[in-house]
Amino acid sequence: MSHASCLCGAVSWELEGPFEWMSHCHCSRCRKAHGSAFATYVAGPAAGFRLRGGERSVRYESSPGFFRCFCECCGSVVPGDPTAGRIFVPAGNFADDPGVRPLAHIFVASKAPWYEIRDNLPRFDAYPPGIDAPVLADREPLDPPEAPRGSCLCGGAAYVLTSSPQRCVNCHCSRCRRARSAAFGSMLFASVRYTRGEDQLATYTLPDAKRFSYAFCRVCGSPMPRPNPSGGVAGVQMGSLDDDPGMRPQAHIFVGSKAPWYEIADDLPQYVEYPT
Ligand SMILES: [Zn+2]
Ligand SMILES: [Zn+2]
Ligand SMILES: [Zn+2]
Repeated sequence: MSHASCLCGAVSWELEGPFEWMSHCHCSRCRKAHGSAFATYVAGPAAGFRLRGGERSVRYESSPGFFRCFCECCGSVVPGDPTAGRIFVPAGNFADDPGVRPLAHIFVASKAPWYEIRDNLPRFDAYPPGIDAPVLADREPLDPPEAPRGSCLCGGAAYVLTSSPQRCVNCHCSRCRRARSAAFGSMLFASVRYTRGEDQLATYTLPDAKRFSYAFCRVCGSPMPRPNPSGGVAGVQMGSLDDDPGMRPQAHIFVGSKAPWYEIADDLPQYVEYPT
């Protein structure tokens, strides 16, 4: 039995195996919904799934008939509906080691330009073989391409970078993993100007950590840069980017808290906590 919860704890769930499939999905919808380089999902029997606090989860129809769900309080991705007797749960929320390991990268044709796959897992352009489902086109960014753009999954909120990124990290701390419901969070730091939808953002601040605070879209749950009224630098969850920001992750931080099911395969510097 594996246990998991959103970052604030309002929604939690349990999943009993056998787990059938675990993969990293690089589709633009997963990247936006999670704010991360890719999302990692585990499939298990729907009969072994139990949800608590589900009334706190918001449903967003990200493609016809397909709902993505997120916690209304903290924005973490939470499991949606079972399909054909299976439930797909985001791996970043597990409290313990589910014992399964990723088997493939899927939707690699939609991969973020700033992320390079360095491991040897099989890669598929879209769905893995055996799944016959339509592949939806990515939504085009709404603003003119004058500066690197970003937007949430529903397109209601969008921003542009107004300064060059200062630095860029992959953070493996348990808060980022739970907030993003992903293997790790990828953040860059730059000034940001919202071009639309700033008023449809919610903010979550972790009660015992004043510095852990971020925004997400109230409609679709996508993590978004927290508006900074002083025009200063904001942390940008890179999965929301529509364009190449021109900078790549420079280090892995908080690898002391790394998910047991995720292997770092690149040669970027690694720090147990903050960089020295
Ligand atoms: Zn929550
Ligand atoms: Zn996906
Ligand atoms: Zn949205």
